[in-house]
Amino acid sequence: QKPVPSDIVISRSCVPKPIDRLAREVGLLSDEVELYGKTKAKVQLHIIKRLQKQPDGKYVVVTGITPTPLGEGKSTTTIGLVQALGAHMKLNVFACVRQPSQGPTFGIKGGAAGGGYSQVIPMEEFNLHLTGDIHAITAANNLVAAAIDARIFHESTQSDKALYNRLVPLSGEQRKFSPIQINRLKKLGIEKTDPSALTDEEITRFARLDIDPSSITWQRVLDTNDRFLRKITIGQSPTEKGYTREAQFDITVASEIMAVLALTSSLEDMRQRLAKMVVATSCSGEPITTEDLGVSGALTVLMKDAIKPNLMQTLEGTPVFVHAGPFANIAHGNSSILADKIALRLVGPEGFVVTEAGFGADIGMEKFFNIKCRYSGLRPHVVVLVATVRALKIAFILKNHNMRKQIENAQHFGVPVVVAVNAFKTDTEAELDLICDMAKAAGAFDAVRCFHWAEGGAGAVALGQAVQRACEAPSNFKFLYDLDLPIADKIRIIAQKIYGADDIQLLPDAQHKVELYTKQGFGSLPICMAKTHLSLSHEADKKGVPRGFILPIRDIRASVGAGFLYPLVGTMPTIPGLPTRPCFYDIDLDPETDQVNGLF
Ligand code: ADP
Repeated sequence: QKPVPSDIVISRSCVPKPIDRLAREVGLLSDEVELYGKTKAKVQLHIIKRLQKQPDGKYVVVTGITPTPLGEGKSTTTIGLVQALGAHMKLNVFACVRQPSQGPTFGIKGGAAGGGYSQVIPMEEFNLHLTGDIHAITAANNLVAAAIDARIFHESTQSDKALYNRLVPLSGEQRKFSPIQINRLKKLGIEKTDPSALTDEEITRFARLDIDPSSITWQRVLDTNDRFLRKITIGQSPTEKGYTREAQFDITVASEIMAVLALTSSLEDMRQRLAKMVVATSCSGEPITTEDLGVSGALTVLMKDAIKPNLMQTLEGTPVFVHAGPFANIAHGNSSILADKIALRLVGPEGFVVTEAGFGADIGMEKFFNIKCRYSGLRPHVVVLVATVRALKIAFILKNHNMRKQIENAQHFGVPVVVAVNAFKTDTEAELDLICDMAKAAGAFDAVRCFHWAEGGAGAVALGQAVQRACEAPSNFKFLYDLDLPIADKIRIIAQKIYGADDIQLLPDAQHKVELYTKQGFGSLPICMAKTHLSLSHEADKKGVPRGFILPIRDIRASVGAGFLYPLVGTMPTIPGLPTRPCFYDIDLDPETDQVNGLF
């Protein structure tokens, strides 16, 4: 066997085809494509209208067993599988994947373009700024944060009248409400369009959001692993006149705006979701939204290009949509609905769209079904569950069966499961056979070894054929829980059925939020658990299939615009930290060639 060069060496050895050529090959018209250099393009959303009548292709979701910290090869398998189906089996295909966060790229895990001979190229472009979507999210998110604190500051230093006069200033001879202010008047039930006609009582209600600072759930974000931002104090300059408060940063890919991007279905829908986001509660208990803050139109402007999916390609020239990048442990972990929908139409009824759900089946796949599929209305034909000998060995020692449990987790949703055993060169024939046999015994539709990391798409043709067969198998899709159940019951169902917990424990903050969100009318949203991906339980070091544990729910946030409730399990932080030796030690620019070194 020939040694496999490093990912970056393989990536560079392949000259990508011009992206406008790829766009034509997949059936995009020139006025639907916006080029970003030679290797990336954005696709305009009006294509959805043109393809309205086109039937969808087959829809495949790739998930995995509980991973080791380096990952078990889901991205590599997603890319290997589309290369097999597209370049070798000559079917129409699309891979739909997430844009990587710069947190892991410079931190512990490295890039996420796949690996070996199954990669998205050019991997530098893919792993770094791409077309700036994550930067746009950071900008939009932090505009909301600035709007909240500035509003509290201005309300605390001005009388009602002075505040009103500044909010609705004279323009020329006249005062006029802006369209967003008219929305707010409607919400308050004030049917007036003339600013001078408001009574004193109406002026107070209009001008004062009266945000309770202790209720603010909106955090600032940054796409960097920076643990020192987990708890900060803002407003310490004397110019803020003593308005200081404890706050925190989250990583950008865990922000609600990232989830909105991933779950939206159109520009109009995104505008509405960006307006509905709840940032805090008023002193009288009313939810305060981004629309109340007057910022939702500006957010839509900042996000208007980010909403268009990004087209790239694999090493074997098959198309890839890279769009949205929520983490799977502290966010909902799936690429965008828009990219999947466009790709399903482009490939046509005989084609395949393969998308990846982050981390293990307990995390990204559960959220794929219960959140993404609920909002998209799409139903996958097959689940591909990636397993590796190296991750299962940890489980073997404990005489546990993580893979069996994760197959069972996929079966809860009634879709056939194909296990892809991602072969490493250290694996023995006997080990690979054993895993395939175990997978079939556990009820998988099929289980095949695959070699796409070392061989490219040719090494995953058996997987491609198994997936094709599984698409014809009977499927009986169902959700895990009803949205109408009480919040605690929905969390308990996920904890017991998917994680194997005995029960959940709602800690005081979480209990308070259950009551608050139920009262505010958000009780029927789906659930997005923030839990470690390294164990089925809340404790990363409990490998295999932990039993006999109670899942502690520390707090719950509401992502009303994205459309889910977000329970925080145990001590899970919402911005990662850097290890002692982060990946950035290896990354540098070669000034001679202008090439980026050290990404892998
Ligand atoms: P995941 O998507 O599950 O997090 P990735 O596909 O990103 O995992 O793979 C994680 C790392 O493991 C990558 O650096 C990739 O190159 C490497 N890898 C994946 N499959 C293999 C394999 N079969 N042999 C060697 N390395 C592999």
